[in-house]
Amino acid sequence: MRIEQDYKLDFPDVLIRPKRSTLSSRSDVNITREFTFRWSGHRFNGVPVIAANMDGVGTFMMARAFEADGNGLTVALVKHYPADKLIEFYRNGGDANTWYTVGLNEEDYEKFKYVNKQLGDLAPKKICLDVANGYIQYFVDYLRKIRDQFPDKTIMAGNVVTGEMTEELILSGADVVKIGVGQGSVCTTRKVAGVGYPQLSAIIECADAAHGLEGLVCSDGGITCPGDIAKAYGAGADFVMMGGMFAGHDQSEAELIEEDGEKKLFFYGMASDTAMKKHKGDVAEYRASEGKTVKIPYRGDVKDTLQEILGGIRSACTYVGARRLKELTKRTTFVLVSRQLNTIFGDD
Ligand code: 5GP
Repeated sequence: MRIEQDYKLDFPDVLIRPKRSTLSSRSDVNITREFTFRWSGHRFNGVPVIAANMDGVGTFMMARAFEADGNGLTVALVKHYPADKLIEFYRNGGDANTWYTVGLNEEDYEKFKYVNKQLGDLAPKKICLDVANGYIQYFVDYLRKIRDQFPDKTIMAGNVVTGEMTEELILSGADVVKIGVGQGSVCTTRKVAGVGYPQLSAIIECADAAHGLEGLVCSDGGITCPGDIAKAYGAGADFVMMGGMFAGHDQSEAELIEEDGEKKLFFYGMASDTAMKKHKGDVAEYRASEGKTVKIPYRGDVKDTLQEILGGIRSACTYVGARRLKELTKRTTFVLVSRQLNTIFGDD
């Protein structure tokens, strides 16, 4: 047994220190990023925010809302859509704002190949290879196989939380490595398994490793408010993925329930009992459920939430004098804090 002595940080452990700035208004700030992906060579230009591949979040409707918004945010589609629905979606111009999520089992792989073949030139260009534990050798082998067979796809792969595994995934074919274990809003891995890594430190360490190899990182999970997104970018994240922040909207494709005169809906982890029952057979029975189910208030159209998110990123850039989002990391000084918010009127 060994104990690492340096403190690892989460979002609430820090604040971003304001810096002198010549920007006079939030509208002076450009919050899009341009990337050329290391392996695929494709380019990305947009706000680097991704809706997670979770039920109620990574939906076709969410992708259409992001498309309509026009800021270039993207959606990682849930992997459970049937092939015919995916084909229809991509035929109708669904590619630009989406990541096609490829599951790890044979059936998902066959579905992916089939969808690609049917779509020809319209096939998904960006894909997401997603597993709770990116440290298993099978995952690395699978990533290598997909990279070999689809050299021109942009691949986002994860999840991991350490520099050496980030390097391994990039060298095995990932353009973007997804970072985060245990910090998700409906994740119970820390409780069930005692495993995890504070997200801010994970981003700092993994971004450093990835950027050294011309790879990118996506911080996945743990965002509770727009300020956390700014901290993730400040720490070095190229993309930020969110589930809970995008849950509860019209775009969830979920049923609304009425409780005490309030509209609500269910949101759950993709490894929860709810998800297992819904997509039976996906999660092996010997695996403990590592996700929970919560009832959340209905929040209307995602449009307003998007405004809040984009406004928050803009504001952070303005406070530190970053004219472009790209400059945010360089201009970020984190201060360690023991108290982040004034909670006299609650903590929201
Ligand atoms: P959030 O933004 O809601 O805090 O976190 C979203 C992320 O939580 C997802 O992108 C995914 O990585 C992770 N996640 C989703 N469902 C589950 C689950 O059932 N168990 C665990 N451990 N993580 C989950």
